[in-house]
Amino acid sequence: MGESVISLADLRYAARVPQIPADLHPPQGLLSDRLGRPLRDLRISVTDRCNFRCSYCMPKEVFDSQYKFLPQSSLLSFEEITRLAKLFVAHGVHKLRLTGGEPLLRKHLEVLVAQLSELQTADGQPLDITLTTNGSLLTRKAQALADAGLKRVTVSLDALDDTIFRQMNDVDFPVADVMAGIEAALRAGLQPLKVNMVVKRGTNEGQIVPLARHMREHFGAQVVLRFIEYMDVGATNGWRMDEVLPSAEVVRLLDEAFGLQALQSNQPGETAQRWRYTDGKGEVGVISSVTKAFCSDCNRARLSTEGKLFLCLFASAGHDLRALLRGGYDDAQIAAAIGLIWGEREDRYSELRGSQQAGPQSAQHSGKAASAAPRKVEMHYIGG
Ligand code: SAM
Repeated sequence: MGESVISLADLRYAARVPQIPADLHPPQGLLSDRLGRPLRDLRISVTDRCNFRCSYCMPKEVFDSQYKFLPQSSLLSFEEITRLAKLFVAHGVHKLRLTGGEPLLRKHLEVLVAQLSELQTADGQPLDITLTTNGSLLTRKAQALADAGLKRVTVSLDALDDTIFRQMNDVDFPVADVMAGIEAALRAGLQPLKVNMVVKRGTNEGQIVPLARHMREHFGAQVVLRFIEYMDVGATNGWRMDEVLPSAEVVRLLDEAFGLQALQSNQPGETAQRWRYTDGKGEVGVISSVTKAFCSDCNRARLSTEGKLFLCLFASAGHDLRALLRGGYDDAQIAAAIGLIWGEREDRYSELRGSQQAGPQSAQHSGKAASAAPRKVEMHYIGG
């Protein structure tokens, strides 16, 4: 990474203590923000620690042995997470994604999964509970997680080539061990399994077709491979627009190699555009967070490791729900505070970044990070 790494300003303390409204309307599952977007998806970061040091997420130069991760006492307990999740579900959340950092580093995560799986949507349906992981601990954990009620899993894997992958994770972790984790998850019934590859131009774009070929041949429709555009999250990865490979290019490469046909999205607010292989050997997706922003139907909220609510992946401040949990407020008060926060939401960072790039002084042309806005919080802390 060398010179492009920007030193870390600690934004973990940038949070407002939420206001409790005078009228405590019970949640109806019908929240709508200022742009008319509902709340359906909650991503919960269970740890800010990770055993990988991917340069685009937690570069070694910043997250070194001196870096102070959150102390255990700062983290939400499983009971606190479950209590908040229940309130979010009452507000209309259908899907919970556990993430981090590396969520499988949080001890006894299956206990949290078991607690969350007892929750139901307002109309009595089970929740869609999933997890995003680098796969390094899946061989050990997959069965226990499935037994506890986890339904699906998303595994991050940025290359098929072992040398490239070891360089990207920057801790010399081999591809074979992630593949073993994927197989363990499939055996445990965590299907359909998604694999996410972040594409960085000049680093791993040569891996798009080989990884797709491997997944098609070995797993067929059991695995959906998705290609994520390298995003300007956080403030430490030295992001440059010229390292983003537009998803349109990924689709062109895959179409040329295998033949693709567009699919309808599964549900509103879905991040990936879906494609099927014309020979029937499964499906792929592209997540075009940079070149085709999907803010207009973003129904996701993020709960940080220490209980701050973030309304956008690119936010620079959160809302301190832990202060309410530990300040003696009851469920009705906390639910009303969440309702108020969501009602005032108007974040649409990626759309605004897109319109800046269209201008003459664009990031695309200057090679600088797109926004002169306040520093954004790091992704491993609010959850990917
Ligand atoms: N440790 C877990 C993992 O590796 O999946 C979960 C956390 S990680 C922050 C979640 C996802 O965010 C991963 O798929 C990772 O590759 C992706 N990610 C991290 N930084 C990114 C960036 N700058 N642009 C695009 N995706 C990124």
